Amino acid sequence: MKFADLHLHTNYSDGTYTPEELVEKAVGAKLSCISITDHDTVGAIPEAMAAANASGIEILPGIEISCEYELREVHILGYLIDYKSSELLKRLETLKENRISRIYKITEKLNALGIGLKAEDVFSVANGATVGRLHVARAMVLKGLVKTVSEAFNRYIGDSGPAFSLGFRFTPEEAIKFIHDNAGVAVLAHPYIIKDEELIFKLIGLGLMGLEVYYPEHSQGEINFYLGLAKEYNLLVTGGSDCHGSAKPQVRIGSIKIPYDLVEKMKEVRGRLS
Ligand code: AMP
Ligand code: ZN
Ligand code: FE
Ligand code: FE
Repeated sequence: MKFADLHLHTNYSDGTYTPEELVEKAVGAKLSCISITDHDTVGAIPEAMAAANASGIEILPGIEISCEYELREVHILGYLIDYKSSELLKRLETLKENRISRIYKITEKLNALGIGLKAEDVFSVANGATVGRLHVARAMVLKGLVKTVSEAFNRYIGDSGPAFSLGFRFTPEEAIKFIHDNAGVAVLAHPYIIKDEELIFKLIGLGLMGLEVYYPEHSQGEINFYLGLAKEYNLLVTGGSDCHGSAKPQVRIGSIKIPYDLVEKMKEVRGRLS
């Protein structure tokens, strides 16, 4: 049997593994196929593919696009996208710049709360990656402002925290169109976070093609529920660990392994698109 983990981050976004390290860990976890789904970037994919060539692991091109829906974060995964398209890369560059502006907003809010963190402290942790809240949290730990990443989210930068800022985001509609226009398959990431069936139906109407059914935080009840939805609406089923390396040490690569059949089904559906 072949298995895949289709939700992984590298140090091109807020994970800590380099693409080469991630491939090495994937071999160790006995995976046949992985997808790198960095936030708003495809930068790690060419490097990962080069590293995977030697080890025989398959890299499925992917991305996780952060969207805003009624002031909430919604993450849409894009699989099998044309990661080399210059149009795509140009558009992603603007998302990366937006993320930089957002860090200034977050650090201003932290400063107003008496927390002495500079945007530059965050950028030095991110080291050129698409910068996000996990980098903010790690910078806060480094500076001794909080003890753990979780404390940073719980007290300050979580979705309803006093220093939260969303920044500019695609709408889910734009993200789905963006993925589709670049030959990709749009899948809703970790649906339990939004807990909103109406929104899922809306996204299906906009061209959503799959649900990330298998996810570490999903209970068996949720898995069954999303499997049911996928069946009823003829959606693809995907899954992955959402490993971020040592930034979230409790989540290991391969802690979710899905049968490779699901990857084949995705390719089949994608093949019918073009
Ligand atoms: P951002 O894209 O900057 O909004 O950050 C979103 C990322 O922050 C998620 O993909 C997770 O990696 C991380 N994150 C969100 N909430 C939490 C939390 N409560 N604890 C730890 N990490 C979190
Ligand atoms: Zn992340
Ligand atoms: Fe996510
Ligand atoms: Fe993720």
